[in-house]
Amino acid sequence: MSQSSNGDGTSHHRLLIIGTGPAGLTAALYASRANLEPLILEGNQPGGQLTITTDVENYPGFPEGILGPELVDKMREQARRFGSTVKFEEATEVDLSEHPFKVTSDEAGYTCDALVVATGATAKLLGLESESHLMGYGVSACATCDGFFFKDKEVVVIGGGDSAMEEATYLTRFCSKVTVVHRRDELRASKIMQDRALKNDKIEFQWNQGMVEVLGTREKGVHGVRLQSTQTGEETEYPCQGVFLAIGHKPNTDLFRDSLDMDDAGYLTVRCPSTYTNVDGVFAAGDVMDPNYRQAVTAAGSGCQAAIDAERWLEARGA
Ligand code: NAP
Repeated sequence: MSQSSNGDGTSHHRLLIIGTGPAGLTAALYASRANLEPLILEGNQPGGQLTITTDVENYPGFPEGILGPELVDKMREQARRFGSTVKFEEATEVDLSEHPFKVTSDEAGYTCDALVVATGATAKLLGLESESHLMGYGVSACATCDGFFFKDKEVVVIGGGDSAMEEATYLTRFCSKVTVVHRRDELRASKIMQDRALKNDKIEFQWNQGMVEVLGTREKGVHGVRLQSTQTGEETEYPCQGVFLAIGHKPNTDLFRDSLDMDDAGYLTVRCPSTYTNVDGVFAAGDVMDPNYRQAVTAAGSGCQAAIDAERWLEARGA
């Protein structure tokens, strides 16, 4: 049996997966096809970051592109078809100190033999109302995902780190002009990334500026941003048709702070080339353990690896 009652109101599962982005749902697909009947807890943003993008054109198999939320729905449906149970619950507490592991959600309690952590990462945003309102309508937090939609357009990139330089440089492949808006007059990015951006004719810099509003509508898209000098407080309007936030990502690992090894930025560390964490029986997949690629397809790939790792681990224990 892959699921049974513990007799205390909690239920036991051979495999529990936390997170329903491409990593969690692909892990669920593979695990359910291995008859593990996994339980998946969706979290407070079911589908993860794909749900805040519009068209996804770089996921193989969809030559015409597919809407992010639709892709997640299809993945969920596919996982359910083979026996995954997906619950709209958020894991609020985990105890990985002994077997079986304990996971508590906002609704119920569970135990499991193996656990896949696929809680993703969240792009940091400035927290502006206009920014969230226009997310997917001219505002993006992923140039690799959305840059193509800004062909021959003028865009701004917010940030002064490696991500901002990388995204700005990448965007010059499509955009007619890219303006990096940075709150200081000195970049945080590594020298090599800075040099590449500074030498690029298509990239301009707005130093000592913060973005305080994105101007536009969902119907017509973005037509500019309101900037504020971090030195004088003076506000100006700057025309552009797209805004890319590149002020960093935060892996969703707060729940595991006391139990799983992570790097300085909070990404879970795994025993490469595998998805094994430092706790035997706990596997990590997707953006939560990947500060480098952060693509739907790489997350799905590592979700598959985590399911296979978990299945083999369970088999070796005779579970
Ligand atoms: P980061 O290094 O933390 O840089 C974030 C940038 O955003 C900083 O310039 C920061 O400004 C700015 N920022 C943060 N909060 C802001 C706010 N509220 N308003 C305005 N600006 C804000 O993040 P990252 O660039 O994503 O890089 C994260 C890590 O990944 C780094 O270790 C980086 O080297 C690595 N990375 C490597 C590569 C590569 O090698 N190809 C590519 C991408 C990332 P301040 O400078 O003023 O703090």
